[in-house]
Amino acid sequence: MSTMKFCRECNNILYPKEDKQKKNLLFACRNCDYQEVADSFCVYRNEVHHTVGERTQILQDVANDPTLPRTKDVRCVKCNHPEAVFFQAASRGEEGMTLFFVCCNPSCGYRWRD
Ligand SMILES: [Zn+2]
Ligand SMILES: [Zn+2]
Repeated sequence: MSTMKFCRECNNILYPKEDKQKKNLLFACRNCDYQEVADSFCVYRNEVHHTVGERTQILQDVANDPTLPRTKDVRCVKCNHPEAVFFQAASRGEEGMTLFFVCCNPSCGYRWRD
């Protein structure tokens, strides 16, 4: 892994560690006292949660995506729009795939699951 860092003193693996006082990300050696400030936050990228704005953007993109299948068999419970995009996605904390629907009404974008 390219994000792996090694101690300059003893060449052991450095582990990411949070400096709570300075709110910095550090890499610290568990074998000696060596530590350094992380120059990138790559290691935490997967844990960053989307902001509400980003999430809304994704929903709009999904409703406008011409490659996704559309159905007129369902009706949006929010605005009663008779067409929705649907796709399968893994939902957090659940096994298997879940069917999601996104309302095609651009001013609605309501998302629900089967
Ligand atoms: Zn060390
Ligand atoms: Zn709707």
